[in-house]
Amino acid sequence: MTFMLMLVRQTRHRAKHMQFSMGIRNYSGLLGRRLRRLVGVVLVTAIASLSLASSLSAKNAIRKVNKEAQEQYERLFVLANTEFTLLHEIAHVIIWEKNPPIFGREEDAADTIAVMAQMMLPADPKAGGEIRKLQAVADGWKLEWQLVQEDDLENAYWDLHSLEIQRYYNIACLVYGADPENRTDIVTAAQLPTDRAEWCHEEYALAKRAMDWLMTKLTDSPVGAFTSQHANVTVSYARNTTLEGEKLDTWLRESGIAERLAEALMRRFDLPRDIEISFESCPFPNAAWDVKTAKIQFCHALLNRFLYLARELSRERNESADNSVWKAAAHTTTSGKPGNSSTINARSPR
Ligand SMILES: [Zn+2]
Repeated sequence: MTFMLMLVRQTRHRAKHMQFSMGIRNYSGLLGRRLRRLVGVVLVTAIASLSLASSLSAKNAIRKVNKEAQEQYERLFVLANTEFTLLHEIAHVIIWEKNPPIFGREEDAADTIAVMAQMMLPADPKAGGEIRKLQAVADGWKLEWQLVQEDDLENAYWDLHSLEIQRYYNIACLVYGADPENRTDIVTAAQLPTDRAEWCHEEYALAKRAMDWLMTKLTDSPVGAFTSQHANVTVSYARNTTLEGEKLDTWLRESGIAERLAEALMRRFDLPRDIEISFESCPFPNAAWDVKTAKIQFCHALLNRFLYLARELSRERNESADNSVWKAAAHTTTSGKPGNSSTINARSPR
């Protein structure tokens, strides 16, 4: 600022001198040459100060745009992962409360239901649509896996859940398998090995058949046919006192994600009892369905974890070319997807 002020002052001083000198130019050739030199200096100084100012304001503008884009990505990442997690937990609710036949592990089934439901939910095309959302979820798992490796933690092969990196590939495979013709770019961007990729269409078809069954056989009434006999699904928010909790809370409430999913669950399924979705403070970054209390507990710390992962991923992407973004051909079809809206829900101990 001080430097800018000096330049402005200098320019003003020389401009004053120039006005005076111009008056005597006709009397002396020498004075005229000096004056021309002086005019040149003034012009160069003025241009330099103008270009410095414009370069500074351009840098500020770029910084502002970058900051806005960064915040936009963080919001998308946090909300996409929150939606997936809620869908995974709602899947547990349906499995426990409606007893559909499940082959394989419940946690894998809940993940598949969550991915399929997230593909059915409306997504903002300006924000990259469903693919961007699902990539955010998959990337979250991949980064969690990388962090486990970096910290040399135990790989939980024995766990109820698939390993984080398997959850990543399962999501990538279903997203690609939903429309392989138009989503070939995803195979490269997601680093999906050919041995897996060539079966993704079949994996998706199997998941879709199960999902269609769930959405027709297990729902007891058409969408919107709400009656007072239905159990209630309520959403509650405790004050988020974590660092940046206020911002996270605002994003969450403004999005209306929890309320929309609660309503879909309530309207589509004849649940035997009331269910609560509770965003609250708890010691670990986790979400879980508690059968005893009929409550989905979503910890504030998990929202903070999502924000942390989003920032780590942004840093990674800025360092490398953005060739890891999943893209689909513009004419990707959405036909063949079951109706609008949905149900199901998302993950538990992360
Ligand atoms: Zn779970």
